[in-house]
Amino acid sequence: MTASYAKDFTDIPESLRSNPGLKKKALDLVQYEPVAGKVTSGGNRLDDFREILIDFFDLKITLNEAIAETERKLDRRMSMFSADNRVFASGWSERLVRTQVSRFYNQAVLELIIDGGSDDCYVEHSANEQSSSKCSQGLAGTTHSASIMLERLKLSYGEGEWGKDLKLPEHPHCTHTFSPAN
Ligand SMILES: [Zn+2]
Repeated sequence: MTASYAKDFTDIPESLRSNPGLKKKALDLVQYEPVAGKVTSGGNRLDDFREILIDFFDLKITLNEAIAETERKLDRRMSMFSADNRVFASGWSERLVRTQVSRFYNQAVLELIIDGGSDDCYVEHSANEQSSSKCSQGLAGTTHSASIMLERLKLSYGEGEWGKDLKLPEHPHCTHTFSPAN
């Protein structure tokens, strides 16, 4: 079972390929869960972004293709925030895609753990982690409450209510993932 969950952000496509239940859960969430942030605000931007995430979680496109599609379909010039260099700082499309891919993958894992009647989730040390990051120091290598982690994830990445409590993803290049604790 543990082989069906990603131990690192880069393992996410492989885990989706080997775990149909996880893939289905992620695809469900991508279609209706709220996504916070100015980049996806206005017009059809959020619907267009959902289509890109659906193609990624359905294994039709790679992460890099999702980033390129986001850059193209969520054209900065069409945004009501196009003049804001903080919203569209260099690398905005990569940060948005990595953040929401991590968010939806981790949300799917947490919901499956809770659906299965457990509340224990484990965060593996990632081979690609920055050892100085808060998540490496405060979350990795230990077991946490899935319901608390789910609440923090949804508040931050769904509602845009940022707290100081540790969560996954902790930052746009966070490589940590949740998996069921055995
Ligand atoms: Zn991390």
